Amino acid sequence: RPEVLRMEIESLSRNEEFARVVVSVFMARMNPTLEELDDVKTAVSEAVTNAVIHGYQGNGGIIYLEVEILKQELTVTVRDTGIGIPNIVQAMEPMFTTDPEGERSGMGFSFMEAFMDEVRVESEPDKGTVVTMKK
Ligand code: ATP
Ligand code: MG
Repeated sequence: RPEVLRMEIESLSRNEEFARVVVSVFMARMNPTLEELDDVKTAVSEAVTNAVIHGYQGNGGIIYLEVEILKQELTVTVRDTGIGIPNIVQAMEPMFTTDPEGERSGMGFSFMEAFMDEVRVESEPDKGTVVTMKK
């Protein structure tokens, strides 16, 4: 039987750190290595930051975080009901960003893919985005 954690957090920058810490504490029961812990924290941080700044464009909303542990496999899902992504393949390309003026480098999805074993993105414009990652 999987162990599941479900959490709803407000779309605020300061909740990025909160989400990252909660996931790492929950994950501790798998006895992960420090490296695995850091990888997951980085990926969660990128996904939650994307929901805050792109999904909800800083306007607020709810971010749904789900973490599931089954044996030695961790699945993290970060979902928003924001603006969605019109072209997922393009969005996931290294260095693609819709915010080139700002401080964004377009590397968030690339980090998620590098640090997790599997990353799946589902999205629909005006409906929102679901990022599912496994480690
Ligand atoms: P960085 O993560 O390096 O700061 P970035 O956020 O632009 O820059 P990615 O995280 O790779 O780069 O995301 C690429 C693009 O995908 C974003 O610029 C944005 O257009 C889109 N995107 C990502 N997540 C979401 C989301 N939750 N909702 C809507 N659009 C998103
Ligand atoms: Mg990003």
